[in-house]
Amino acid sequence: MRWDRRHPGERGSTHGSRRSRPTWSGPSWRPVGGNATGTAIGLGNATATADDGRRAALARPIPRSVHRTEALREKIERLKAMLDSSVPDGDLARIFEIAITETLARREARRFGRTTQPRKTVAQVDTRPTTSRYIPLPVRRASHERDGGECRFAATNGRKCASRRHLDLHHGIPWAHGGDRSPENIALMCRTHNQYLADLDYGKSAMDRHRKERVIERTRSGETTRDG
Ligand SMILES: [Zn+2]
Repeated sequence: MRWDRRHPGERGSTHGSRRSRPTWSGPSWRPVGGNATGTAIGLGNATATADDGRRAALARPIPRSVHRTEALREKIERLKAMLDSSVPDGDLARIFEIAITETLARREARRFGRTTQPRKTVAQVDTRPTTSRYIPLPVRRASHERDGGECRFAATNGRKCASRRHLDLHHGIPWAHGGDRSPENIALMCRTHNQYLADLDYGKSAMDRHRKERVIERTRSGETTRDG
């Protein structure tokens, strides 16, 4: 399975030729940015007096961002106390580095199976197609390592997306079409390209319906983040 652009006549894998999908070449990839036109806001009323302004300020509730700042400060103090022995001078840069390193390790282990002590190898897990979308940790690990922690999508001109944000694992041959769970069929994709390819695989209207249902489900269960 090739994940980047294949030139006409170039030899590829056998199962890639089963279906003629533009999936790996990305026929018209372009950055998704939305419109960049800003709208001026908060200009206020030029004729308002200073008293009016003060009254309005007093009546306004305390912004949530202030609460967040206080909560953050309190958490930093707790972390400083927790790391007292390893960072005795309370150096904030060092404390943030430790916190970020630990969070990254935990999240990458969960999502991409990244660990220094893997319990199983790809050869030891079942990578055949199943009714579950679950991708075994050794496969996640292998795909993540092979793709260098970047989105693998390539445009028709060969330019790679290479985004490191909102990465997810994507089935080359779609799961619903019997795609297996081997590293050859699983690639890292950013959210934009994961959705783009899913729209091609399953049809945009079906995917829009599916996403709407997931949002409703998550709202019901109180879940607010996409990745958890
Ligand atoms: Zn991408």
